[in-house]
Amino acid sequence: MTEHNLVSMTAPLRDDFDIPCHDIGPAEKLPWVVLVGGVHGNELNGIFVLSRLANLLRRAAAGQHPDFRVRRRVMVVPAVNVLGVNTGSRIWPFDKTDINRSFPGHPAGETTQRIAYALLAGTLSARHRIDIHCSNDQFEELPQVRLYEPHDDERAGAYLFGLPAIVERPMSGVFTSTLGHAWRHHGGENYVIQAGQAGSLQLPHCERLFQALLNFLLHKGALTGTRFTEPEEDVHYFGVDQSVPVISRGAGLFVSHLEVGRWVRRGEVLGNLHDAFDGDIISDITSPASGLLSGMRRQPLLCEGDLVARVQSLGAEGAAMNTYLHGQGQ
Ligand SMILES: [Zn+2]
Repeated sequence: MTEHNLVSMTAPLRDDFDIPCHDIGPAEKLPWVVLVGGVHGNELNGIFVLSRLANLLRRAAAGQHPDFRVRRRVMVVPAVNVLGVNTGSRIWPFDKTDINRSFPGHPAGETTQRIAYALLAGTLSARHRIDIHCSNDQFEELPQVRLYEPHDDERAGAYLFGLPAIVERPMSGVFTSTLGHAWRHHGGENYVIQAGQAGSLQLPHCERLFQALLNFLLHKGALTGTRFTEPEEDVHYFGVDQSVPVISRGAGLFVSHLEVGRWVRRGEVLGNLHDAFDGDIISDITSPASGLLSGMRRQPLLCEGDLVARVQSLGAEGAAMNTYLHGQGQ
């Protein structure tokens, strides 16, 4: 059990920086699971949950946890964008680049390319790889597993988290430079999890995410424990044609009382659009499909064409809607 730096960089004009990694369990073995958070520095749910999870794993590995023992090697990188965390920034602060658009990276490239290269190299040997994101700071995502053109082991493995939604996506050309995509070329099982909204902590999502990661580690044999509760909620799998975006047809203040994770009917009012000057309700915004409300806009200033919500339908209602499929947080 050690803490080491996955990346260490020197810089001529400012302080050096490191990207620290918890390396827990039998060091002579290849990592069984690697968990990565904070590729975007303002996605705090994942950073918080991974730091707490590493705390549990370290105590378990030292024989100091009453309920759990570590059986296999687990690596945890709570925050990749260490400088972005300091400034609350999604992107790398100095050159304004998105680390998750820099993979597979290059050992002699710009800083973000070097970070990407080192992160990829440092995580490839793990059998199971998990990259945790939030949405952006305007949109809230129900904690969910995202799969991109998965193989059958990934489809089966996604259920082990016990999160309420597994959402399968086609691979977009825009997303070929992400960590999740880079991992796919190297076998193993690869998962992207989205949970909540960037810029703040949503504790109910954090608790759900923490339990989900614990479930996965237990099911995969990385941990054994006495406190192993099967998730209570049903897990639903949504295929590529089952994501239905709700797009605004007008501008105004969007107000909604609905929580993500509830089931809505086609035509149900998701929220109201108010005139920001006189307060009149301009229109109701209704759900175009029946299904699980998996994402909701939380920044209320709405323009025409903005994404308001996302509904996961049990039917193939999203077939013609291949825009807005990806969460902005990845
Ligand atoms: Zn992200």
